Amino acid sequence: MMRAILGGTFDPIHWGHLRSATNVCEQIHSDHLILLPSAQPPHRSYPGATAEQRFAMATLAATEIPSCSADNWELLQSRKSYTQLTLEQFHQRWPTDTLVFILGEDAFAGLQSWHNWEHLLDHAHFVVMRRPHSHNVFSESLQRWLNKVQVKQPESLHQRASGCVYLAETPAFDISATAIRNAIQIDQPWQHLVPSSVANYIQTHQLYR
Ligand code: ATP
Repeated sequence: MMRAILGGTFDPIHWGHLRSATNVCEQIHSDHLILLPSAQPPHRSYPGATAEQRFAMATLAATEIPSCSADNWELLQSRKSYTQLTLEQFHQRWPTDTLVFILGEDAFAGLQSWHNWEHLLDHAHFVVMRRPHSHNVFSESLQRWLNKVQVKQPESLHQRASGCVYLAETPAFDISATAIRNAIQIDQPWQHLVPSSVANYIQTHQLYR
């Protein structure tokens, strides 16, 4: 079984995350999508939702998508989230499954600053989604590494259990959580950028005001 994992702060989760990730899942023929909220980065500026609220919104969003669930593993750890450690743990949980970590181009560009980054592909493949304003220009050293691990066809991800990076041709959705939080603060329309259940949750809990 192939499990795709989309990690993120999800403050809040939005259609940019969900449409891009489901598009990737179709392209790579994965069986299940996991939405994985990360513990809040300490530098993030207020106002933001709590970990519980971000998980609640991811859980609501997951119900909109077939074969999708939210996972609170990173929120239950009493430390910063490290994708490499999470993937090691998920590999122990599902030793016979293929794990695919999905991330946006902007996040991928900074991969070499991630904890233990050289081991990120030990237990998973990585698939990169396009994002507007980001153009697949990576640092020389990231590009050199990418040349060694990149596969050009999504089918290749089914031939090995881990170790590959695939740059997916996803449509670019110009939506960010920052823009949504800003729109809420200045009373601009934002509801169409998130699933309606998430919009209701934000309104009921008066988030981001
Ligand atoms: P913020 O604006 O608060 O930084 P964000 O919208 O970028 O948030 P995150 O939760 O930080 O959302 O993103 C989680 C993952 O989803 C990252 O890998 C990010 O690159 C990716 N991502 C976020 N928005 C999009 C989008 N519109 N299209 C494709 N990928 C996205």
